[in-house]
Amino acid sequence: AAKEAGKGTFRLFLPDMEAKIQDRMRLEAQLRTALQDRVGLFVFYQSIIDIGTGRVTAREALLRWCHEERGWISPGEFVPVAEQSGLIDPLGLFVLRRACHDAAQWDDGARVAVNVSAGQLGKGTLAPAVLEALVRSGLPPDRLEIEVTETALLHDEKDSIGDLRRLRDMGVRVALDDFGTGYSSLAHLRAFPFDKIKIDGTFVRDAVDRPDCAAVVRAIADLGKCLHVTTVAEGVETQAQLDRVTEEGCSEAQGYLFSRPVPSEADMALVDELNRALGFLKPAETASR
Ligand code: C2E
Ligand code: MG
Ligand code: MG
Ligand code: MG
Repeated sequence: AAKEAGKGTFRLFLPDMEAKIQDRMRLEAQLRTALQDRVGLFVFYQSIIDIGTGRVTAREALLRWCHEERGWISPGEFVPVAEQSGLIDPLGLFVLRRACHDAAQWDDGARVAVNVSAGQLGKGTLAPAVLEALVRSGLPPDRLEIEVTETALLHDEKDSIGDLRRLRDMGVRVALDDFGTGYSSLAHLRAFPFDKIKIDGTFVRDAVDRPDCAAVVRAIADLGKCLHVTTVAEGVETQAQLDRVTEEGCSEAQGYLFSRPVPSEADMALVDELNRALGFLKPAETASR
């Protein structure tokens, strides 16, 4: 009977998987078109705050896609599609250029932080692309920060580190994102002199109620102090969380408590218009927060 059920399940799964593959191929084609036509793709920015002074030290560039049928799709869904289809290189270039261009207009001198995927690393192409974006925008190298996750470093580790070294030699800062969620976090700190460690939001969220998570935050903050590396608490949503990560010794914080990711000044009107047109669909974050 179990065998029969197994067979039945198998038959049910097949069309389902086929539909999923088709959905994915459509999404990939639509993303390619969006990128080619420069329609529906936006770079939003979220502030990163120095806890001591309350000043904005940097803004993280976060990709947003307004799909013509589905409305705003999360990068958690479409970035993996880009990574698996070779679109991540042109998409990454789009974000990099836009972010450098926008940051060059900011009058508070804050840095801009740009996320980079595994697929953009280890090929020797990142540093030339970054240099080009800096030259075109006129943004000084020390106002650009590149964020890489631990998992992005797992593939072609030696070549990836080589690419990061080239960036750092140019004066660009390099941050280790989502710290504590990957494998051998500490080994990565030994392999490369990161300028910044971003403590994953899951630790920050639980640090208020769970002493073990608070201890992890403290350990990372202490490590940062020893290594002279800035530590950022990600995903700070409440005052209680801010108080906790401050107490544990983090130097900077980022999260909804301070600001949601918002469109650039230039995109604000268009994004508002899209949100009105979408109506019932999940709106992207607007400038009102
Ligand atoms: P990430 O780099 O770790 O970015 C932080 C994520 O946390 C963002 O999600 C941000 O909107 C969200 N966040 C910020 N503050 C809070 C908070 O207080 N509470 C909660 N619950 N979340 C908060 P987002 O924008 O959906 O991006 C998700 C991930 O997608 C990013 O994680 C990053 O890995 C990737 N991503 C986004 N833009 C790009 C890009 O241009 N290139 C690449 N390669 N990846 C990107
Ligand atoms: Mg990031
Ligand atoms: Mg992160
Ligand atoms: Mg993340």
